[in-house]
Amino acid sequence: MYPAAFDYTVAESLDHAIDLLQRSGEGAKLLSGGQSLVPLLKLRLVQPAHVIDIGRLPGLSDVLEDEAAGILRIGALATHAQMGVSSVVRDKLALMTEAAGVIGDAQVRGWGTLGGALAEADPAGDWGPVVQALEGRVECTGPAGVRVVDAASFFVDAYTTVLADDEVITEVRVPLPPPGSAGAYLKMERRAGDFAVASVAVQLELDGAGSCTKAGVALGAAGLTPIKVLAAEETLAGQEVTPDVVDAAAGQVVEAANPLADVRGSSDYKRAVCGALFRKAVDIALRRHRGEDVRGGHVR
Ligand SMILES: Cc1cc2nc3c(=O)[nH]c(=O)nc-3n(C[C@H](O)[C@H](O)[C@H](O)COP(=O)(O)OP(=O)(O)OC[C@H]3O[C@@H](n4cnc5c(N)ncnc54)[C@H](O)[C@@H]3O)c2cc1C
Repeated sequence: MYPAAFDYTVAESLDHAIDLLQRSGEGAKLLSGGQSLVPLLKLRLVQPAHVIDIGRLPGLSDVLEDEAAGILRIGALATHAQMGVSSVVRDKLALMTEAAGVIGDAQVRGWGTLGGALAEADPAGDWGPVVQALEGRVECTGPAGVRVVDAASFFVDAYTTVLADDEVITEVRVPLPPPGSAGAYLKMERRAGDFAVASVAVQLELDGAGSCTKAGVALGAAGLTPIKVLAAEETLAGQEVTPDVVDAAAGQVVEAANPLADVRGSSDYKRAVCGALFRKAVDIALRRHRGEDVRGGHVR
């Protein structure tokens, strides 16, 4: 199917894009990698009057370690593939490398962007739980300037975020983890390239004795938005990660999950998958902390 007619403008700068958004109101859509928007346009599920292409704006796709601020700065236009091969990401935040590697297929990873994925807010998207578990923050730039929103409060509903019509995601900021930290991202999928049946992101800060000092836990495809499981984080933090502690936290993960039944499984099945993925992700994180080379990512 062909899209309905729309005006198309290649933004010359961020200010230009914001100005166009402001003038077009609800009738405009930004285009980054086009991996969500273009299929929706073709199916006429969205029919914007104006498409504003920001995909080639310079300076918005860098992945930089900002040691002074203690954060990783990821430009909104960084592609999934770029995240997958970034050595700073791999060295510090294995779960981001894992998420990047399990998204769609090579084309989707080559064109799709982190900013576009967060703005799309697909309930089964892979980046939402990862940035939530890492306590990431989303930089949104609009006519009034920049505001930075915690990933935990960025998603409002399925396909809905706190972004205003005239705002652009410009950067994602993720705290650099202290030495000894380890994490994992696990996504169960029915077949290669599919969206998640359910997914779990875990990041643990561990001391020299292997006790957890801080935990990040979030779920994907387990509700209308990614779910940060504060109860499980609290259970793990300040504890030696014993089987009893993991059992208690896994129970809280299953309780927090609120997935819809669909072609990928019943709600009960997906809840059980969340619990199982959580246990496995904690195990991988602990083994990585001990220096083992363990694979995360896809679970089929
Ligand atoms: C076959 C296929 C399989 C896929 N599988 C997965 C998967 O397994 N996991 C997964 O997570 N995703 C998957 N996706 C989605 C993919 O990750 C998209 O790349 C991503 O959701 C959107 O990024 P984009 O840059 O392509 O955004 P676009 O398609 O260009 O835009 C998506 C939406 O975000 C808005 N937008 C874009 N950039 C910005 C910005 N910087 N600021 C504000 N709003 C913005 C657009 O207006 C639009 O509404 C899949 C897509 C396809 C086609």
